[in-house]
Amino acid sequence: MKAKIAVLAGDGVGREIVPEAVKVLKVVAEKFGHTFDFAYGDVGGQAIDKVGVPLPQDTLALAKQSDAVLLGAVGGPKWEGLEYSLRPERALLGLREQLGLFANLRPAKLYEVLADASTLKKEVIEGIDILVIRELTGGIYFGKPKGIEALPNGGERGVNTEVYTTEEIRRIAKVAFEAARRRRKKVTSVDKANVLESSELWRRVVIAVQKDFPDVELNHIYVDNAAMQLVRNPRQFDVMLCNNIFGDILSDEAAMLTGSIGMLPSASIGAQVGLFEPIHGSAPDIAGKNIANPIATIASAAMLLSYAFKLDREAHAIEEAIVKTLDLGYRTKDIHSAGSRLVGTTDMGEAVVRNLK
Ligand code: ATP
Ligand code: MG
Repeated sequence: MKAKIAVLAGDGVGREIVPEAVKVLKVVAEKFGHTFDFAYGDVGGQAIDKVGVPLPQDTLALAKQSDAVLLGAVGGPKWEGLEYSLRPERALLGLREQLGLFANLRPAKLYEVLADASTLKKEVIEGIDILVIRELTGGIYFGKPKGIEALPNGGERGVNTEVYTTEEIRRIAKVAFEAARRRRKKVTSVDKANVLESSELWRRVVIAVQKDFPDVELNHIYVDNAAMQLVRNPRQFDVMLCNNIFGDILSDEAAMLTGSIGMLPSASIGAQVGLFEPIHGSAPDIAGKNIANPIATIASAAMLLSYAFKLDREAHAIEEAIVKTLDLGYRTKDIHSAGSRLVGTTDMGEAVVRNLK
């Protein structure tokens, strides 16, 4: 196939890890006979330095005209003093809004060879392979009324409102069932239907959507129990379908089960162009030293192939190359332990490229 990929490296370690992922995508193109055109754009702090805004119009146009966006990270201490509308993080919100990204997909998968290095018990974490799907544009973060208002007695009242419409629930539920179909065919919908009306509707709509996916098993879990089960018996989960706030919390919890933040990819998808990025930030503390782990970004590139282009075989080849590289003992500093082979960002990227070829 022929496709255009917008590449937005951004700030900090983004500038070091994104080139490694691009190298990997180029090898995939060569190996499987695809043509990927890479178009580079500015985003975040470096865009502020260059043109004064975190999300330049050119970048937005580039993203919209592409078939997928690969992003590194944005932000850093240099831009922290700026007013909110000029902060690098605004670029992410802007992209999400403008691209209509309503679903955030975060896999938490344990690489077996790293199980020993984890502080968690091996029996608990072994075999973890969860996909947390978080609704991104609705729920309590956006519902109205919201605000802080004065009370006659001199106090104040802070208000947020959890709102979901049938259509918002239906489209995110569809994403979950479709994803589950390509995995272990099990969706666990997370809610608090014993207390919240929005959750009652959530559950009802999810049940209705499942009728179109009879091959996918559906069960429901209250969010408090989900938080507990994630650390007690995480292997029971395949796809976890969550609203905005529950997904925010549970995706972080699930991620930490598997250890390093430098290993975990994410995808944000909407009606058209998807955005693929590591879950970690710009890591200013290690930026510019060639020590950041590029695997989260390389795995994000694999998600890009799978979710944006439906190139599952190619995505799988990248995942296998990552596993092989780890099996051979290559480790960046964040996942390094005694007896393994400590390498830098570029060497790790090269090793994955070699194992892909
Ligand atoms: P943000 O607010 O942008 O999410 P943050 O302050 O929450 O940023 P990160 O930038 O993700 O955090 O960094 C958190 C910690 O994880 C830091 O110590 C950082 O060095 C480490 N870290 C993040 N990404 C990587 C990576 N790719 N390789 C190694 N370590 C990383
Ligand atoms: Mg953070």
